[in-house]
Amino acid sequence: MPGIKKFPIGGTHLPENKDLTTDSPIKWLNAAQSVAIPLKQHLGVACKAVVSAGDEVHVGQLIGANSEGLSARIHASTSGTVTAIEKRVMIDHSATECVVIQCSNAADQQEPGIDAAVPVKGPADAVPEPDEVRKRVEEAGIVGMGGAAFPTHVKLQVKKDTPIDSIIINGAECEPYITTDDRLMQERTAELYRGLDIIRQTVGAQRGYVACEVNKPAAIKAITEEAERWPQLEAVRLDTRYPHGAEKHLIKAVLNREVPIRQLPMAVGVIVNNVQTAIAITEAVDHAIPLTRRVLTVSGSVVSQPGNFSVPVGTPLGDLVTAAGGPTEDDYRLVVGGPMTGMLTDDYGIPVTKSTSGIVLIRPGEYADRSAEVCIRCGRCVSVCPMYLQPNRITTFVRNEMIEEAEEFGVNDCILCGACSFVCPSRRPLLQWLREGKAKSASAAEERRRRNPV
Ligand code: SF4
Ligand code: SF4
Repeated sequence: MPGIKKFPIGGTHLPENKDLTTDSPIKWLNAAQSVAIPLKQHLGVACKAVVSAGDEVHVGQLIGANSEGLSARIHASTSGTVTAIEKRVMIDHSATECVVIQCSNAADQQEPGIDAAVPVKGPADAVPEPDEVRKRVEEAGIVGMGGAAFPTHVKLQVKKDTPIDSIIINGAECEPYITTDDRLMQERTAELYRGLDIIRQTVGAQRGYVACEVNKPAAIKAITEEAERWPQLEAVRLDTRYPHGAEKHLIKAVLNREVPIRQLPMAVGVIVNNVQTAIAITEAVDHAIPLTRRVLTVSGSVVSQPGNFSVPVGTPLGDLVTAAGGPTEDDYRLVVGGPMTGMLTDDYGIPVTKSTSGIVLIRPGEYADRSAEVCIRCGRCVSVCPMYLQPNRITTFVRNEMIEEAEEFGVNDCILCGACSFVCPSRRPLLQWLREGKAKSASAAEERRRRNPV
Protein backbone atom coordinates (compact mmCIF):
# COMPACT_ATOMS: atom_id res chain seq x y z
CA MET A 1 0.00 0.00 0.00
CA PRO A 2 1.36 3.49 -0.85
CA GLY A 3 2.43 5.95 1.87
CA ILE A 4 0.27 8.10 4.10
CA LYS A 5 -1.67 10.78 2.22
CA LYS A 6 -2.88 14.19 3.38
CA PHE A 7 -4.26 17.50 2.17
CA PRO A 8 -1.57 20.17 1.95
CA ILE A 9 -2.63 23.34 3.80
CA GLY A 10 -4.82 24.23 6.79
CA GLY A 11 -6.67 22.01 9.22
CA THR A 12 -5.77 21.15 12.78
CA HIS A 13 -5.13 18.30 15.22
CA LEU A 14 -7.82 17.62 17.78
CA PRO A 15 -8.10 15.61 20.98
CA GLU A 16 -9.75 12.60 19.34
CA ASN A 17 -11.19 10.75 22.33
CA LYS A 18 -11.99 7.77 20.14
CA ASP A 19 -10.41 5.24 22.48
CA LEU A 20 -13.66 5.20 24.51
CA THR A 21 -15.48 3.24 21.79
CA THR A 22 -13.06 2.08 19.10
CA ASP A 23 -13.00 -1.40 20.67
CA SER A 24 -16.77 -1.52 21.31
CA PRO A 25 -18.48 -3.98 18.94
CA ILE A 26 -21.77 -2.73 17.50
CA LYS A 27 -24.71 -3.68 19.73
CA TRP A 28 -28.20 -4.27 18.33
CA LEU A 29 -30.79 -2.05 20.04
CA ASN A 30 -34.54 -2.49 19.69
CA ALA A 31 -36.90 0.45 20.03
CA ALA A 32 -37.99 0.65 23.66
CA GLN A 33 -41.59 1.83 23.27
CA SER A 34 -42.19 3.97 20.24
CA VAL A 35 -40.42 5.58 17.31
CA ALA A 36 -41.22 8.82 15.46
CA ILE A 37 -40.05 8.38 11.87
CA PRO A 38 -39.65 11.71 10.02
CA LEU A 39 -41.10 11.83 6.50
CA LYS A 40 -38.23 14.08 5.49
CA GLN A 41 -34.78 12.76 6.33
CA HIS A 42 -33.12 13.71 3.07
CA LEU A 43 -32.19 16.67 0.94
CA GLY A 44 -35.27 17.53 -1.12
CA VAL A 45 -39.01 17.17 -0.74
CA ALA A 46 -40.78 15.38 2.14
CA CYS A 47 -42.39 12.00 1.46
CA LYS A 48 -46.14 11.47 1.57
CA ALA A 49 -47.44 9.14 4.28
CA VAL A 50 -49.03 5.98 2.86
CA VAL A 51 -50.26 4.73 6.24
CA SER A 52 -52.80 6.18 8.69
CA ALA A 53 -53.27 6.23 12.46
CA GLY A 54 -54.54 2.83 13.58
CA ASP A 55 -52.74 0.85 10.86
CA GLU A 56 -50.65 -2.16 11.83
CA VAL A 57 -47.23 -2.06 10.15
CA HIS A 58 -44.31 -4.43 9.99
CA VAL A 59 -40.62 -3.63 9.97
CA GLY A 60 -39.42 -2.72 6.47
CA GLN A 61 -42.92 -1.76 5.21
CA LEU A 62 -43.13 1.38 3.07
CA ILE A 63 -44.72 4.20 5.10
CA GLY A 64 -43.58 7.26 3.11
CA ALA A 65 -43.67 7.38 -0.71
CA ASN A 66 -41.37 9.56 -2.83
CA SER A 67 -42.80 12.93 -3.60
CA GLU A 68 -42.25 14.54 -6.97
CA GLY A 69 -38.74 15.95 -7.17
CA LEU A 70 -35.71 14.99 -5.10
CA SER A 71 -36.84 12.54 -2.42
CA ALA A 72 -36.11 9.18 -0.73
CA ARG A 73 -38.61 6.58 0.50
CA ILE A 74 -39.25 5.97 4.19
CA HIS A 75 -39.90 2.53 5.74
CA ALA A 76 -41.10 1.37 9.15
CA SER A 77 -38.13 0.71 11.42
CA THR A 78 -40.13 -1.41 13.82
CA SER A 79 -43.33 -3.45 13.77
CA GLY A 80 -46.29 -2.05 15.63
CA THR A 81 -49.30 0.25 15.45
CA VAL A 82 -49.30 3.70 13.89
CA THR A 83 -50.62 5.95 16.66
CA ALA A 84 -50.27 9.33 14.95
CA ILE A 85 -48.94 11.23 11.99
CA GLU A 86 -47.90 14.52 13.49
CA LYS A 87 -45.24 17.19 13.50
CA ARG A 88 -42.26 16.75 15.80
CA VAL A 89 -39.25 18.99 16.40
CA MET A 90 -36.00 17.94 14.68
CA ILE A 91 -32.41 18.79 15.62
CA ASP A 92 -32.40 21.71 13.14
CA HIS A 93 -35.46 23.12 15.00
CA SER A 94 -37.75 22.42 12.03
CA ALA A 95 -41.17 20.90 12.70
CA THR A 96 -41.32 17.80 10.51
CA GLU A 97 -44.20 15.40 9.97
CA CYS A 98 -43.47 12.00 11.54
CA VAL A 99 -45.12 8.60 11.51
CA VAL A 100 -45.33 7.58 15.17
CA ILE A 101 -45.32 3.81 15.74
CA GLN A 102 -46.04 2.11 19.03
CA CYS A 103 -43.74 -0.92 18.98
CA SER A 104 -45.17 -4.41 19.18
CA ASN A 105 -43.46 -7.72 19.65
CA ALA A 106 -39.73 -7.14 20.12
CA ALA A 107 -39.03 -10.60 18.71
CA ASP A 108 -39.90 -9.58 15.18
CA GLN A 109 -37.45 -6.71 15.41
CA GLN A 110 -34.59 -9.19 15.34
CA GLU A 111 -31.88 -8.33 12.90
CA PRO A 112 -33.29 -8.68 9.38
CA GLY A 113 -29.74 -8.48 8.02
CA ILE A 114 -27.93 -10.92 5.83
CA ASP A 115 -28.57 -14.55 6.65
CA ALA A 116 -25.36 -16.11 7.92
CA ALA A 117 -25.91 -18.95 5.44
CA VAL A 118 -25.74 -16.52 2.51
CA PRO A 119 -22.15 -15.39 2.03
CA VAL A 120 -21.45 -11.80 1.12
CA LYS A 121 -20.89 -11.54 -2.62
CA GLY A 122 -17.34 -11.08 -3.85
CA PRO A 123 -15.44 -9.74 -6.87
CA ALA A 124 -16.49 -12.65 -9.11
CA ASP A 125 -20.22 -12.12 -8.51
CA ALA A 126 -22.19 -10.16 -11.08
CA VAL A 127 -23.55 -6.70 -10.34
CA PRO A 128 -27.03 -5.98 -11.78
CA GLU A 129 -27.40 -3.55 -14.69
CA PRO A 130 -27.06 0.15 -13.65
CA ASP A 131 -30.80 0.89 -14.02
CA GLU A 132 -31.65 -2.10 -11.86
CA VAL A 133 -29.13 -1.02 -9.17
CA ARG A 134 -30.61 2.49 -9.11
CA LYS A 135 -34.14 1.02 -8.87
CA ARG A 136 -33.22 -1.20 -5.90
CA VAL A 137 -31.40 1.65 -4.16
CA GLU A 138 -34.39 3.95 -4.68
CA GLU A 139 -36.80 1.29 -3.40
CA ALA A 140 -34.66 0.89 -0.27
CA GLY A 141 -34.77 4.65 0.49
CA ILE A 142 -30.99 5.03 0.73
CA VAL A 143 -29.47 8.45 1.35
CA GLY A 144 -25.94 9.65 2.13
CA MET A 145 -25.49 8.64 5.76
CA GLY A 146 -22.49 10.87 6.48
CA GLY A 147 -24.67 13.91 7.11
CA ALA A 148 -25.71 15.31 3.74
CA ALA A 149 -28.59 12.83 3.28
CA PHE A 150 -28.60 13.28 -0.51
CA PRO A 151 -30.78 10.58 -2.16
CA THR A 152 -28.31 7.94 -3.36
CA HIS A 153 -30.23 6.75 -6.44
CA VAL A 154 -29.87 10.28 -7.83
CA LYS A 155 -26.16 10.41 -6.99
CA LEU A 156 -25.71 7.22 -9.02
CA GLN A 157 -27.08 8.88 -12.17
CA VAL A 158 -24.02 10.00 -14.09
CA LYS A 159 -24.25 12.70 -16.72
CA LYS A 160 -22.60 11.99 -20.07
CA ASP A 161 -20.58 15.22 -19.95
CA THR A 162 -19.12 14.45 -16.51
CA PRO A 163 -17.78 10.88 -16.63
CA ILE A 164 -16.70 9.37 -13.31
CA ASP A 165 -13.41 7.48 -13.06
CA SER A 166 -13.00 7.12 -9.28
CA ILE A 167 -15.13 6.35 -6.24
CA ILE A 168 -13.88 7.16 -2.74
CA ILE A 169 -15.41 5.70 0.40
CA ASN A 170 -14.97 8.30 3.11
CA GLY A 171 -13.72 6.45 6.19
CA ALA A 172 -11.77 9.43 7.56
CA GLU A 173 -14.27 9.98 10.38
CA CYS A 174 -12.32 12.89 11.84
CA GLU A 175 -15.03 14.07 14.25
CA PRO A 176 -13.87 13.50 17.88
CA TYR A 177 -15.51 10.68 19.90
CA ILE A 178 -17.38 9.19 16.87
CA THR A 179 -16.29 5.65 15.86
CA THR A 180 -19.25 4.45 13.80
CA ASP A 181 -17.36 4.06 10.53
CA ASP A 182 -14.32 2.73 12.38
CA ARG A 183 -16.40 -0.17 13.74
CA LEU A 184 -18.19 -0.78 10.43
CA MET A 185 -14.86 -0.95 8.57
CA GLN A 186 -13.73 -3.56 11.11
CA GLU A 187 -16.94 -5.60 11.33
CA ARG A 188 -18.52 -5.39 7.87
CA THR A 189 -15.49 -5.06 5.63
CA ALA A 190 -16.63 -7.46 2.89
CA GLU A 191 -20.05 -5.78 2.56
CA LEU A 192 -18.32 -2.40 2.41
CA TYR A 193 -16.13 -3.49 -0.52
CA ARG A 194 -19.06 -5.16 -2.28
CA GLY A 195 -21.01 -1.88 -1.94
CA LEU A 196 -18.07 0.10 -3.30
CA ASP A 197 -17.79 -2.25 -6.28
CA ILE A 198 -21.54 -1.99 -6.97
CA ILE A 199 -21.19 1.82 -7.03
CA ARG A 200 -18.07 1.62 -9.18
CA GLN A 201 -19.66 -0.62 -11.79
CA THR A 202 -22.96 1.29 -11.78
CA VAL A 203 -21.31 4.60 -12.70
CA GLY A 204 -18.62 3.03 -14.92
CA ALA A 205 -15.62 4.10 -12.81
CA GLN A 206 -12.26 2.37 -13.18
CA ARG A 207 -11.04 2.57 -9.59
CA GLY A 208 -12.44 2.58 -6.05
CA TYR A 209 -10.75 3.57 -2.78
CA VAL A 210 -11.52 3.12 0.91
CA ALA A 211 -9.78 5.97 2.72
CA CYS A 212 -9.17 5.85 6.47
CA GLU A 213 -7.10 7.95 8.90
CA VAL A 214 -4.18 6.13 10.51
CA ASN A 215 -5.60 6.70 14.01
CA LYS A 216 -7.81 3.63 13.34
CA PRO A 217 -5.25 0.82 13.11
CA ALA A 218 -7.73 -2.06 13.38
CA ALA A 219 -9.88 -0.60 10.58
CA ILE A 220 -6.79 0.04 8.43
CA LYS A 221 -5.77 -3.60 8.86
CA ALA A 222 -9.24 -4.86 7.94
CA ILE A 223 -9.65 -2.70 4.81
CA THR A 224 -6.08 -3.41 3.65
CA GLU A 225 -6.50 -7.18 3.90
CA GLU A 226 -9.91 -7.10 2.18
CA ALA A 227 -8.57 -4.93 -0.67
CA GLU A 228 -6.30 -7.80 -1.74
CA ARG A 229 -9.39 -9.69 -2.98
CA TRP A 230 -10.63 -6.82 -5.18
CA PRO A 231 -8.46 -6.04 -8.21
CA GLN A 232 -9.90 -2.58 -8.87
CA LEU A 233 -10.27 -1.42 -5.29
CA GLU A 234 -7.66 -0.29 -2.79
CA ALA A 235 -7.24 0.93 0.77
CA VAL A 236 -5.72 4.38 1.36
CA ARG A 237 -4.10 5.55 4.60
CA LEU A 238 -4.69 9.19 5.53
CA ASP A 239 -2.77 11.32 7.98
CA THR A 240 -4.77 12.20 11.10
CA ARG A 241 -5.72 15.81 10.51
CA TYR A 242 -9.03 17.61 10.85
CA PRO A 243 -11.07 17.89 8.52
CA HIS A 244 -9.90 15.03 6.31
CA GLY A 245 -13.52 13.89 6.11
CA ALA A 246 -14.52 17.02 4.16
CA GLU A 247 -15.12 15.84 0.57
CA LYS A 248 -12.84 18.32 -1.16
CA HIS A 249 -9.96 17.66 1.24
CA LEU A 250 -10.44 13.93 0.95
CA ILE A 251 -10.25 14.11 -2.87
CA LYS A 252 -7.15 16.29 -2.71
CA ALA A 253 -5.49 13.84 -0.32
CA VAL A 254 -6.42 10.63 -2.16
CA LEU A 255 -6.19 11.70 -5.82
CA ASN A 256 -4.42 15.09 -5.70
CA ARG A 257 -7.33 16.70 -7.56
CA GLU A 258 -8.77 20.11 -6.72
CA VAL A 259 -12.56 20.46 -6.79
CA PRO A 260 -13.20 24.04 -7.98
CA ILE A 261 -15.00 26.39 -5.60
CA ARG A 262 -18.79 25.94 -5.75
CA GLN A 263 -18.54 22.73 -7.76
CA LEU A 264 -19.20 19.13 -6.82
CA PRO A 265 -16.72 16.20 -6.80
CA MET A 266 -18.27 15.02 -10.10
CA ALA A 267 -16.56 18.01 -11.76
CA VAL A 268 -13.24 16.18 -11.29
CA GLY A 269 -14.58 12.69 -12.11
CA VAL A 270 -15.14 11.56 -8.52
CA ILE A 271 -18.04 10.36 -6.37
CA VAL A 272 -17.56 10.22 -2.59
CA ASN A 273 -19.74 7.93 -0.49
CA ASN A 274 -20.02 7.26 3.20
CA VAL A 275 -19.02 3.85 4.70
CA GLN A 276 -22.50 3.05 5.97
CA THR A 277 -24.11 4.12 2.70
CA ALA A 278 -21.99 1.61 0.79
CA ILE A 279 -23.03 -1.17 3.18
CA ALA A 280 -26.69 -0.13 2.82
CA ILE A 281 -26.29 -0.40 -0.97
CA THR A 282 -25.03 -3.99 -0.61
CA GLU A 283 -28.03 -4.85 1.58
CA ALA A 284 -30.46 -3.26 -0.87
CA VAL A 285 -29.00 -4.59 -4.11
CA ASP A 286 -28.09 -8.12 -3.00
CA HIS A 287 -30.77 -8.75 -0.36
CA ALA A 288 -33.63 -6.24 -0.95
CA ILE A 289 -33.26 -4.86 2.60
CA PRO A 290 -34.59 -1.30 3.00
CA LEU A 291 -32.79 1.32 5.09
CA THR A 292 -34.55 1.26 8.47
CA ARG A 293 -31.65 1.37 10.92
CA ARG A 294 -28.34 3.04 11.36
CA VAL A 295 -25.22 2.43 13.40
CA LEU A 296 -24.18 5.33 15.63
CA THR A 297 -21.84 6.14 18.49
CA VAL A 298 -22.97 7.22 21.96
CA SER A 299 -19.94 8.62 23.75
CA GLY A 300 -18.49 11.61 25.56
CA SER A 301 -16.62 12.53 28.72
CA VAL A 302 -19.66 11.99 30.96
CA VAL A 303 -21.22 8.76 29.59
CA SER A 304 -21.33 5.65 31.82
CA GLN A 305 -21.00 2.98 29.13
CA PRO A 306 -20.06 4.53 25.80
CA GLY A 307 -20.53 2.30 22.78
CA ASN A 308 -21.71 1.78 19.21
CA PHE A 309 -25.29 0.77 18.54
CA SER A 310 -27.45 -0.29 15.60
CA VAL A 311 -30.73 1.51 16.24
CA PRO A 312 -34.08 1.86 14.46
CA VAL A 313 -34.58 5.19 12.65
CA GLY A 314 -36.96 7.27 14.75
CA THR A 315 -35.54 6.17 18.12
CA PRO A 316 -35.67 9.10 20.58
CA LEU A 317 -32.29 10.44 21.74
CA GLY A 318 -33.29 9.66 25.34
CA ASP A 319 -33.32 5.92 24.55
CA LEU A 320 -29.72 6.18 23.34
CA VAL A 321 -28.62 7.90 26.56
CA THR A 322 -30.36 5.16 28.55
CA ALA A 323 -28.74 2.41 26.45
CA ALA A 324 -25.33 3.89 27.25
CA GLY A 325 -26.00 3.82 31.00
CA GLY A 326 -26.84 7.52 31.34
CA PRO A 327 -24.58 10.42 32.33
CA THR A 328 -22.03 10.23 35.13
CA GLU A 329 -22.40 13.91 36.12
CA ASP A 330 -25.38 16.24 36.48
CA ASP A 331 -24.03 19.19 34.49
CA TYR A 332 -23.42 18.16 30.88
CA ARG A 333 -24.32 19.06 27.30
CA LEU A 334 -25.97 16.75 24.77
CA VAL A 335 -24.59 17.24 21.26
CA VAL A 336 -26.04 15.46 18.23
CA GLY A 337 -23.50 14.62 15.53
CA GLY A 338 -20.21 15.13 17.35
CA PRO A 339 -18.60 18.02 19.23
CA MET A 340 -17.03 19.87 16.26
CA THR A 341 -19.94 20.11 13.83
CA GLY A 342 -22.86 18.84 15.89
CA MET A 343 -25.85 20.67 17.35
CA LEU A 344 -26.54 21.22 21.04
CA THR A 345 -29.96 20.23 22.33
CA ASP A 346 -31.80 19.49 25.55
CA ASP A 347 -34.73 17.81 23.81
CA TYR A 348 -34.43 14.05 24.43
CA GLY A 349 -37.45 13.31 22.27
CA ILE A 350 -35.72 14.29 19.01
CA PRO A 351 -35.63 11.20 16.77
CA VAL A 352 -32.60 9.55 15.17
CA THR A 353 -32.61 9.96 11.37
CA LYS A 354 -30.77 8.14 8.60
CA SER A 355 -27.94 10.68 8.88
CA THR A 356 -27.42 10.84 12.67
CA SER A 357 -23.80 9.73 13.18
CA GLY A 358 -23.89 9.78 16.96
CA ILE A 359 -24.48 11.72 20.14
CA VAL A 360 -22.00 12.90 22.74
CA LEU A 361 -22.48 13.96 26.33
CA ILE A 362 -19.72 16.39 27.26
CA ARG A 363 -18.87 18.85 29.99
CA PRO A 364 -19.92 22.48 29.44
CA GLY A 365 -17.30 24.33 27.39
CA GLU A 366 -15.46 21.14 26.38
CA TYR A 367 -15.88 21.84 22.67
CA ALA A 368 -19.02 23.84 21.88
CA ASP A 369 -21.16 26.03 24.13
CA ARG A 370 -18.69 28.87 24.23
CA SER A 371 -19.17 32.43 25.43
CA ALA A 372 -17.81 35.11 23.11
CA GLU A 373 -14.92 37.34 24.02
CA VAL A 374 -13.33 40.04 21.94
CA CYS A 375 -11.25 39.13 18.89
CA ILE A 376 -7.55 39.68 19.61
CA ARG A 377 -6.66 39.47 15.89
CA CYS A 378 -4.27 36.58 16.38
CA GLY A 379 -5.09 35.13 12.94
CA ARG A 380 -5.22 31.50 14.14
CA CYS A 381 -8.67 30.99 12.63
CA VAL A 382 -7.30 32.07 9.24
CA SER A 383 -4.28 29.79 9.42
CA VAL A 384 -6.31 26.63 10.15
CA CYS A 385 -9.15 27.23 7.72
CA PRO A 386 -8.98 24.41 5.15
CA MET A 387 -10.97 26.55 2.68
CA TYR A 388 -8.50 29.46 2.94
CA LEU A 389 -11.18 31.82 4.31
CA GLN A 390 -10.96 34.62 6.87
CA PRO A 391 -13.48 33.47 9.51
CA ASN A 392 -12.77 36.49 11.72
CA ARG A 393 -13.78 38.96 8.99
CA ILE A 394 -16.72 36.94 7.68
CA THR A 395 -18.26 36.59 11.12
CA THR A 396 -17.85 40.32 11.76
CA PHE A 397 -19.88 40.96 8.61
CA VAL A 398 -22.51 38.39 9.63
CA ARG A 399 -22.91 39.89 13.10
CA ASN A 400 -23.38 43.32 11.55
CA GLU A 401 -25.98 42.05 9.07
CA MET A 402 -23.60 42.79 6.15
CA ILE A 403 -24.57 39.65 4.25
CA GLU A 404 -23.39 40.77 0.81
CA GLU A 405 -19.92 41.45 2.23
CA ALA A 406 -19.96 38.07 4.00
CA GLU A 407 -20.83 36.47 0.64
CA GLU A 408 -18.00 38.33 -1.09
CA PHE A 409 -15.59 36.95 1.53
CA GLY A 410 -16.86 33.42 0.86
CA VAL A 411 -19.33 32.55 3.64
CA ASN A 412 -20.93 30.06 1.25
CA ASP A 413 -17.60 28.32 0.65
CA CYS A 414 -17.33 27.51 4.37
CA ILE A 415 -17.73 23.76 4.96
CA LEU A 416 -18.73 24.28 8.61
CA CYS A 417 -15.87 22.15 9.87
CA GLY A 418 -15.53 24.14 13.09
CA ALA A 419 -11.70 24.22 13.05
CA CYS A 420 -11.69 28.03 13.43
CA SER A 421 -13.91 27.89 16.53
CA PHE A 422 -11.76 25.17 18.01
CA VAL A 423 -8.47 27.11 17.82
CA CYS A 424 -9.81 30.58 18.71
CA PRO A 425 -8.12 31.63 21.99
CA SER A 426 -10.98 34.07 22.66
CA ARG A 427 -13.41 31.14 22.51
CA ARG A 428 -15.54 32.92 19.94
CA PRO A 429 -18.45 30.81 18.58
CA LEU A 430 -17.36 31.32 14.98
CA LEU A 431 -19.05 28.15 13.72
CA GLN A 432 -22.41 29.26 15.04
CA TRP A 433 -22.03 32.67 13.38
CA LEU A 434 -20.95 31.05 10.11
CA ARG A 435 -24.04 28.82 10.18
CA GLU A 436 -26.18 31.91 10.72
CA GLY A 437 -24.37 33.67 7.88
CA LYS A 438 -25.05 30.84 5.44
CA ALA A 439 -28.72 30.73 6.45
CA LYS A 440 -29.06 34.51 6.04
CA SER A 441 -27.31 34.35 2.68
CA ALA A 442 -29.75 31.63 1.53
CA SER A 443 -32.71 33.76 2.65
CA ALA A 444 -31.30 36.80 0.86
CA ALA A 445 -30.83 34.76 -2.34
CA GLU A 446 -34.43 33.51 -2.11
CA GLU A 447 -35.65 37.08 -1.66
CA ARG A 448 -33.63 38.20 -4.71
CA ARG A 449 -35.14 35.38 -6.77
CA ARG A 450 -38.64 36.32 -5.61
CA ARG A 451 -38.16 39.95 -6.59
CA ASN A 452 -36.45 39.23 -9.90
CA PRO A 453 -37.91 36.00 -11.28
CA VAL A 454 -36.14 35.05 -14.51
S1 SF4 B 1 -14.44 29.27 8.15
FE1 SF4 B 1 -15.63 27.42 7.77
S2 SF4 B 1 -14.26 26.08 6.59
FE2 SF4 B 1 -12.98 27.68 7.56
S3 SF4 B 1 -12.31 26.74 9.50
FE3 SF4 B 1 -14.17 27.93 9.96
S4 SF4 B 1 -15.84 26.42 9.79
FE4 SF4 B 1 -14.02 25.51 8.76
S1 SF4 C 1 -8.79 33.00 16.19
FE1 SF4 C 1 -10.36 34.17 17.34
S2 SF4 C 1 -9.21 35.85 18.29
FE2 SF4 C 1 -7.87 34.99 16.71
S3 SF4 C 1 -8.31 36.25 14.86
FE3 SF4 C 1 -9.67 34.48 14.76
S4 SF4 C 1 -11.58 35.19 15.74
FE4 SF4 C 1 -9.97 36.63 16.36
